[in-house]
Amino acid sequence: MNFDPSSSIQDYLVFGEFGGVNPSITDSSTFTFLSPDKMKELFEHDVEGCFLYSRHWNPTNKYLSNALALMESTESAIVTASGMSAITCSILQLCKAGDEIISSHTIYGGTYALFKNFLPRFNIKVHFIDINDGEALQDKLTSKTKVVYCESMSNPLLEIPDIHKIKSAIEPWGAKLVVDNTFCPMLFTPTESGADVTIHSMTKFINGTSDAMGGCICSTDEFIHQLTDVNSGASMLLGPALDSLRAASILKNMHSLHIRMAKHSENALFLARKFQELGLKIYYPGLSTHKQHDLFCRQGNTDLGFGGMLALDVEDEKKAHRFMENMQKEKVGYLAVSLGYFKTLFSSPGNSTSSEIPDDEQASLGLSKGLVRMSIGLDHDIEKTYSRIRKSLIDADIKV
Ligand SMILES: *Cc1c(COP(=O)(O)O)cnc(C)c1O
Repeated sequence: MNFDPSSSIQDYLVFGEFGGVNPSITDSSTFTFLSPDKMKELFEHDVEGCFLYSRHWNPTNKYLSNALALMESTESAIVTASGMSAITCSILQLCKAGDEIISSHTIYGGTYALFKNFLPRFNIKVHFIDINDGEALQDKLTSKTKVVYCESMSNPLLEIPDIHKIKSAIEPWGAKLVVDNTFCPMLFTPTESGADVTIHSMTKFINGTSDAMGGCICSTDEFIHQLTDVNSGASMLLGPALDSLRAASILKNMHSLHIRMAKHSENALFLARKFQELGLKIYYPGLSTHKQHDLFCRQGNTDLGFGGMLALDVEDEKKAHRFMENMQKEKVGYLAVSLGYFKTLFSSPGNSTSSEIPDDEQASLGLSKGLVRMSIGLDHDIEKTYSRIRKSLIDADIKV
């Protein structure tokens, strides 16, 4: 694939084996060769259009990867079996024993646990900071810093990092900026603001039907080649290969992503404004009261709105639990972790997706026990949804 930074997913057009409008699915783990010499060559270096073994590359995974590279404006991409494996492979490719990472302190719980509890086993040290605090960043940057890590919209308080500013600060040190863009596909293109590696959990918005797990790493040709190197590549050697049948189904869902993101955003903004009118404590980047609203407008593609995630702080754990039970009874959606589904999903981060973060640290991050994180669905009649949510609030004794 020739890299053209101005192209987008809209330029994606491939044919199936018999002219199908969907690319053919390659349902094979291994591939034949016409000669042993060709096989030897492929073990030495990649050959365009030649495949060896599906843990290395599979044609269907390549189709999906190409679409993701177009979406993220990167030269290349690779898909993995989950978001966590995309993160693990990227980090372990970039860091070795003795290296250091500077990470935002508000990140996905699984990533936090990987950084805090698992990486020290390999003598990789992670400093957690407020990633928009320029002084804290300067303070921790050294020649040992190999990665600076953040999410394009943080989980669960929906803070936005100034990617351009972070990149400028770390550039002289040679550290790579790795951005998890799971909450904001198409809303943000971190590469355009200076990210070196963009990661997604495709389990969420990109797939959008909560029926599959997947992850991806979007970056330069050079980095993707490093990841797939037969002798030293993290994706090749740690082995989180995405199944080709899943890659094919995710690719088909991806083509409606822009329509879904716009609708998720439209519904979330409607509800955020209503909650604000009710006097509730609400976190949503589309509201002018959000700390980084202006930054979002500068950095993001607001054509598609401000995303489908919002967080509501009802300031009491028991009330939060009753509120969520009520919403499920009222058919607002499901009490479930994850996001990006066509139905609304809600959970209390303190007891679920952020539970890996110790209680005292949660408190210092402003993670209240009464926080309810919502991934707003694609509901056609959002006013009806709102009246059901309002009833759920009232029935949980929350003042509105
Ligand atoms: C879910 C999630 C992950 C992990 O992805 P999996 O597909 O569950 O492995 C990473 N980062 C963020 C922001 C997520 O929401």
